[in-house]
Amino acid sequence: MEYYSEKISRLISELASLPGIGAKSAQRLAFYMLDCPKDKTEKLISVIRDAKENVKYCSKCFCLTDKEICPICSNPNRDAKILMVVESTKDMAAYERIGKFNGRYHVLNGVISPMLGIGPSDIKIKELLLRLQQEPVEEVVIATNSSVEGEATAMYISKLLKPAGIKVSRIANGIPVGGDLEYIDEVTLLRALEGRIIL
Ligand code: ZN
Repeated sequence: MEYYSEKISRLISELASLPGIGAKSAQRLAFYMLDCPKDKTEKLISVIRDAKENVKYCSKCFCLTDKEICPICSNPNRDAKILMVVESTKDMAAYERIGKFNGRYHVLNGVISPMLGIGPSDIKIKELLLRLQQEPVEEVVIATNSSVEGEATAMYISKLLKPAGIKVSRIANGIPVGGDLEYIDEVTLLRALEGRIIL
């Protein structure tokens, strides 16, 4: 890093702090940005700023969206009787990509993790319970990841929901332990959904 002047080093080190970007990629991106026409970097800066300022949680499912209510929640053709609980907007997108799930989603925006000090009240579980009182949901499919935290969160939610008499299911195994839903191929995702187990 010391080969470069301070401003270049800072740009490289900021880029390297992004997920999935190693030192070499950071260097490549930094020099690309410095070499390319100014309007291209201005556009990138303004797209990032626009997304940061205007993307918020859907007021129903808590996915990230730039609408008050996201396109899935506001689509009258989606089945309101089945609700899939996922960890993140990225996981929701993974299921949307296979195009076989016609229900709605509830995005927890995290998982319970005592190690990281994340408890049930830090993710959108209260909001899930409230939705279940207001919407005609008959089945909740818990599609958290198969990590230790994802499994613990699934157990916690299923225990909460069972007394309410709502059918609760868990997506089937087949998803590698610790595997992130967003990186799983579509066939495996579809099998996990179709083979879901009633808890
Ligand atoms: Zn929504």
